Amino acid sequence: MNGSTHRCWAEIDLAALERNLGKIRAALPSHIRYVAVVKADAYGHGMPQTVARLMQSGADAFAVANVYEAAELREIGSGWPILVLGAVLPEEEAHLLHYDLVATVSTAEEVERLDKLGRKHKRPVRVHLKVDTGMGRLGIWHTEARPLFERIVAAKNIALEGVFTHFSSADSDPDYTLLQRRRFLQLLDKLPELADQRLLIHADNSAGLDTLAPDSPFNAVRVGLLQFGHAPYRGSLLDRIKPEPVLSFHARIGIVKELPSGVPISYSQTHKLRRRSQLAVLTAGYGDGIPTTASNRASVLIRGRRCPVLGRVTMDQTIVDVTDLPEAAPGDIATMIGAQAVTIEHQKDGETHERITVEEFAYWCDNIPWEIFCSITKRVPRQYKTTRDQ
Ligand SMILES: *Cc1c(COP(=O)(O)O)cnc(C)c1O
Repeated sequence: MNGSTHRCWAEIDLAALERNLGKIRAALPSHIRYVAVVKADAYGHGMPQTVARLMQSGADAFAVANVYEAAELREIGSGWPILVLGAVLPEEEAHLLHYDLVATVSTAEEVERLDKLGRKHKRPVRVHLKVDTGMGRLGIWHTEARPLFERIVAAKNIALEGVFTHFSSADSDPDYTLLQRRRFLQLLDKLPELADQRLLIHADNSAGLDTLAPDSPFNAVRVGLLQFGHAPYRGSLLDRIKPEPVLSFHARIGIVKELPSGVPISYSQTHKLRRRSQLAVLTAGYGDGIPTTASNRASVLIRGRRCPVLGRVTMDQTIVDVTDLPEAAPGDIATMIGAQAVTIEHQKDGETHERITVEEFAYWCDNIPWEIFCSITKRVPRQYKTTRDQ
């Protein structure tokens, strides 16, 4: 069909990524800094290509999970602040200064350690203080944050550059998000030194943006999923942004075969054919990132038509029902996530494209879009589309 295809691959549309960043920025007050969250290989989209494009497109800063990701990012471009979101282990500390990174701190122990590190190297260690307003993960509990803030401000070898918190339920519980936001604002009110610190104050992940008030003291956002084209929550701002999906995920038909009714399909016989069926065996499985939870639940697009997955997804192969698509043939592209053109004879309601979104795919897999992206394995080549015109 298409000479540039593999057995299984992900296509990454960098121009769509750039447009998404532009749309998100345009929807936010202009003073808000854009911190692009690119942990876990840019949510499986590929760190170097994604980050380079985000740098060219106006991202102000980056956030990653750990110092190793930060080191990789630093190779791509200098000058951009890099916030390490996860805890830094004692043996990883030296990387902070070597790559000029910003650490997240939330305990007195970390503050002591980094102050000592800065003293030893005669260079202040850059940090953001993380506050727990109800996520229950990293962060100093908000009612106890003030003394730690003062301890950091007093530390000679630490440069405090920001204060932030993280929402646990921005995509599902607006009331709880509001409570977290209020707790954070109450703490900020109690930090009179804040005004002369010129700090980055941030709380919002993608879903949080919807309730970000323009007159609030927040001056940065941390955007992950939304820039990759997925609104994890239906809200007025998120609906207005209309991000475009950046990644699509495809395999091919290896063989097409016919089996009589009653034959069990794949490991453990979880599906038995209810009619004489035409099956297509795809060249991808859970070894590529199609979760086994997609077994008997997901559909894939072939020639613009939805074809259901039958039986267990196996490591390298997945079986789909193409009985209603007699023209399906070896080599055809099977799209797990993404769009395909609908052939004229199958068009209904004037639709020219059929699409499976990552949200829909994740729903079939009892999973979340973030984890679906992170599950696309190293075996899957990423192909980059770079042109600006659609
Ligand atoms: C991953 C992460 C984000 C980005 O979240 P999205 O929902 O993908 O926008 C923001 N902040 C922190 C602390 C994170 O770990």
